[in-house]
Amino acid sequence: MSLHIGVDIGATFIRAGLFSHEGELLKKIKSPFPRSGFEEYLKNLIIDLSGGELSRIAGVGVGSIGPLDLSTGSVPRAPNAPIKSFRIVDPLRELGLRVVLANDAVAAAWGEHILGLARGYRNILYVTISTGIGGGVIVDGNLLIGKDGNAHEIGHLVVDYSSNIRCGCGGYGHWEGIASGINIPRSFSQYVSREGLCGSFKSPLCQRLLEGSLETREIFEQYARGDPIAIKYVDEYLMLVNSAGIASTINAYDPEILIMGGSVALNNKEAFAKGLDRYLDKYITVRKPVIRFTEFGDDVGIYGAAALSIKPPESLKEYIEAWNKR
Ligand SMILES: [Zn+2]
Repeated sequence: MSLHIGVDIGATFIRAGLFSHEGELLKKIKSPFPRSGFEEYLKNLIIDLSGGELSRIAGVGVGSIGPLDLSTGSVPRAPNAPIKSFRIVDPLRELGLRVVLANDAVAAAWGEHILGLARGYRNILYVTISTGIGGGVIVDGNLLIGKDGNAHEIGHLVVDYSSNIRCGCGGYGHWEGIASGINIPRSFSQYVSREGLCGSFKSPLCQRLLEGSLETREIFEQYARGDPIAIKYVDEYLMLVNSAGIASTINAYDPEILIMGGSVALNNKEAFAKGLDRYLDKYITVRKPVIRFTEFGDDVGIYGAAALSIKPPESLKEYIEAWNKR
């Protein structure tokens, strides 16, 4: 009865891990988001991880893409997932398990607080820069949730009001619309044409832009090789945008520690560390927090989800009571 399962529901992959009560990761599974039959898939995932012995499982924590509806324990409309609407709490309750659910970045913040780099801190900001951009916040020891579980949609902060790049949500100049993994190629394209860079410098990225299939990864690869256009874009625009977004979030929540996660940040730590060092002071007004990259890597979501079950946050208490009566 002392094991916990953490499930990280992303738009592309679903990851799940079996954890000891002390937070040690014992076993993990990663698979693509199913095209159909989500609820059966979720139940089978839990049964597989438990080795068919559900009685060993004390609880399941889930960190999910949103937007969430915590009152029903479901995701009513996920813009980027293969299935747009799915229930999470009810199918897990059908297995007779205790369930705790939160937004994925909110769960990651809790995971850092209970099991990771933010142990011992009471004011914590977690920022993920991945396919999208999101955040999780703990203020005075309380995990902030919001009315439906969707607090800190920080990816939709306006960081460049002059940008005509439209975010997936429909807004303009949003941090996520410019600087998240899927959007970096188009903000690169806009920056390069605005600054007339392909006329002044030689770069393989100009040819890739013409071909129309440039990927984020290639821009950072060229950055590491010293490509002049990649350096100008990353150092003089992308990191300015990231610093504006991060500083606005720090100004709003006054954290002691900022933990960065997400594949774009974790795969390019040096560029991020250098960019934040260069620009953050320009925008920050509160005392600067300690800045670290998560040590959980791609597993940050399952650690966060497991932490929700191992030590359920006080701010989710009423939801937890209601879910576990369903
Ligand atoms: Zn947006």
